[in-house]
Amino acid sequence: MIENRCWLEIDLSILRKNWAVIQGLLQPGCTPIAVVKANCYGLGAVPIARELEKLGCPMLSTADLAEALELRRAGLQAPILLLGPIDPKDTAAAMENGVIVPVVDLEHALLMDSAARRAGGRLRTHIKVDVGLTRLGIPVPGRTGAAIAEIQQITALSHLTNEGLMTHISGMMDPAYDYRNVEQLALFRQFHDQLTARGISLKPHCESSLLFLSHPEYQMDYVRLTSAILGIQKGYDKLGTRCAAQFKTKLLQIKKVPRGASIGYWMTYVTPRDMTVGVVGVGYGDGLIRSLTAGAKMSVRGRQTDVLGKLSMSFAVIDLTEIPEAALGDVVTVFGHEEGAPSVQDYAALYGGHACEVITMLKDSIPRIYL
Ligand SMILES: *Cc1c(COP(=O)(O)O)cnc(C)c1O
Repeated sequence: MIENRCWLEIDLSILRKNWAVIQGLLQPGCTPIAVVKANCYGLGAVPIARELEKLGCPMLSTADLAEALELRRAGLQAPILLLGPIDPKDTAAAMENGVIVPVVDLEHALLMDSAARRAGGRLRTHIKVDVGLTRLGIPVPGRTGAAIAEIQQITALSHLTNEGLMTHISGMMDPAYDYRNVEQLALFRQFHDQLTARGISLKPHCESSLLFLSHPEYQMDYVRLTSAILGIQKGYDKLGTRCAAQFKTKLLQIKKVPRGASIGYWMTYVTPRDMTVGVVGVGYGDGLIRSLTAGAKMSVRGRQTDVLGKLSMSFAVIDLTEIPEAALGDVVTVFGHEEGAPSVQDYAALYGGHACEVITMLKDSIPRIYL
């Protein structure tokens, strides 16, 4: 087998520890749903879902039916809740594959109900409401009565089994704006109470990783988590979770360069003194951000060092002047949890990005290695 320029290592023992931390945070009666959308943020939906199923994860979630069917083809058994709607013509496929579909409005419900009738069965659904994110679902703010009436019509349909009531919160990260999260959570609870009072019984869920930690009082019947499981949600590190993934490359060439040498395209970096530099095998072609890497670091032999100049498509240059022991073929960590390595959050902070985004953008062609 040939050697790769760069690769992602996913440490399943860290995933197991993160899962255990989450178990300890669950309120009684709350069921965790592992969201593995977008190939589990790029880390591999099938291998991660397999590991989580082994750990007893009771439900999985994907963005759409195609992602869910990929898990089924790989032999995963847990029920799969979609986050987005299906095309009504795919209703039978969802029914046959143990997929639970969100209902985003009455029109959509009617189409799926007739499709389920034609298929001779019932489709499992959760009703999705919008309490302020203004994305998918039946809008609630300012029209509670109309939203209740719409849900009454949906729950009267005989070929849908409406099991849950779900929403998604704006997820304000800045504590100064957490009150906006709380407004939406409270509206959702109030709305669920109003449905219950009218005899409509649906299992509510509204939390993702950020809110699961900050507002345990809103865990309700389910929580939907990804970044906490992967160890990239801020705030969990003090509880012992760690990023399960490390992005690595290696030293392809080491050279001494004199003072005044320009490094990389556009000559944006000129050596201020004689230096030793190393060429590594990652670049923006792998999904890193080219234009915004000023200040980027990587680590080698447990020590952090600067990326010099611009990333190119498949290669980058790092400073080895202060790491004379670095040798050809050494592993270089772009981000990860190892001693000295920049974290994925450090990398994201370079350009105002988000850890989820950084790992999700890494190309599918990069080998994923599961430890
Ligand atoms: C992605 C997603 C989640 C999981 O988000 P994390 O913040 O990574 O836990 C939960 N719910 C919905 C609707 C999502 O789209």
